Amino acid sequence: MTEAGLQAPARRARSFHLRVFGCQMNFYDGELIRAAFRRRGYAEAERPEQASVVLFHTCAVREHAEERVHSLLGELKRHKRARPDLVVGVVGCMAEREGRALFEREPHVDLVCGTRHFQALPDQVERVLGGEERVLLLGEAPAPVDQPVRDLCGRAPGYSAHVAVMRGCDLNCSFCIVPRTRGRVQSRPPAEIVDECRRLADGGVTEISLLGQTIDAYGADLGRPQLGRLLDLLAEVPGLLRVKLITLHPAYVDRSLAAAMARSPQFLRFLPLPLQSGSDAVLKRMRRGYTVDAYRRRADLLREHMPDLELCSDWIVGFPGESAADFAASEAALRALGFLQSFVFQYSPRPGTAAYALADDVPPAVKAARNQRLLAVQHAVARERTPRMLGRDARVLLEGPAEDAPGHWHGRTGNGHRVLVPERRGCAPGQVHALALAAYDGKALVGQWRG
Ligand code: SF4
Repeated sequence: MTEAGLQAPARRARSFHLRVFGCQMNFYDGELIRAAFRRRGYAEAERPEQASVVLFHTCAVREHAEERVHSLLGELKRHKRARPDLVVGVVGCMAEREGRALFEREPHVDLVCGTRHFQALPDQVERVLGGEERVLLLGEAPAPVDQPVRDLCGRAPGYSAHVAVMRGCDLNCSFCIVPRTRGRVQSRPPAEIVDECRRLADGGVTEISLLGQTIDAYGADLGRPQLGRLLDLLAEVPGLLRVKLITLHPAYVDRSLAAAMARSPQFLRFLPLPLQSGSDAVLKRMRRGYTVDAYRRRADLLREHMPDLELCSDWIVGFPGESAADFAASEAALRALGFLQSFVFQYSPRPGTAAYALADDVPPAVKAARNQRLLAVQHAVARERTPRMLGRDARVLLEGPAEDAPGHWHGRTGNGHRVLVPERRGCAPGQVHALALAAYDGKALVGQWRG
């Protein structure tokens, strides 16, 4: 295509194209960014060539994600040459990590905006359009990231919504860039969160995922952790049927939180509580702040309060110094703790983390093999665990038609098991129905309608 041919098809005077990478918090932030631009009269463009502003909301957790953004930025060079008034911005964790160096590597980038400034993005775009070059916003912002009353116009319609309850992390895991890119814990006041959830529920949302890097630390900066109190307050929100928590750190799990989860009528008893490794030696090098036994005691405490609780874990395989015996300990821990789901990541060194100084000494092929092996163990554990649900009645939140089972809908039990149920008239996403769990096909439970 010639550069003349790159004159944007149907380009609007004020339009933005936003591409989001990474975690659920980033996708939530994407909704805030959308709202900020829509309020200023920008239309959203599906493709970069249709937009007057192109933004990448980025992730810095893995090198691969950053390189993908650099490659997309490379593709934008020709658009920028054809349309010098095109504003190109990099937002989020990668912007925070790379900072000013991004301008050196990608000279056609106009705007680099870290994780605490994106609410001000439309103003920053105006600065660029006003002739300022290389607008850079990093570090702490003068105001909290989350506004007291969130503008909901940036979210896609649907029964399920995300709500950030806190930002940042006060821990210091040696592999993790998050404390550097997202800063220290900044909790939102409970009343703001409850109000946001109430407005979402009034608009038809029945399931809300509360987001925080270490969500069980929620409130630590307000005096004391108070996630339990927040769950109690949300129990009073009419129409809100499910509350998910993403993601916890074992250090903050205590008896009072377990009790609050157990008495919440909405709490999804499927908890992301990453163990990361089953080897105490590796956990120590990861600076996770617990041993496998300490983790097990927290898991036992939670299960004592909620016998049907299911746990989900992240794992890093191939962390520096991970021996065959260390990896075998991870396999054993996965089996012993009975996780229902695992997300396995091959260790990737990140500049700016403490682990970057350690030799990345596990060969890529070994990392890949351990990744596959741990997933295979997880599948076996899930297949063994799930049939325990058979014969029970369950309240299942319907998510939508099942692509892998024509004629069926799929949903989740109150403890996170996937259920298929034959479609019937009146099925709607976000509804909760009583189902009898009659069969298990090796991947999902199969339910029968009750009444
Ligand atoms: S708890 Fe550890 S892994 Fe999680 S965000 Fe904080 S530093 Fe990163």
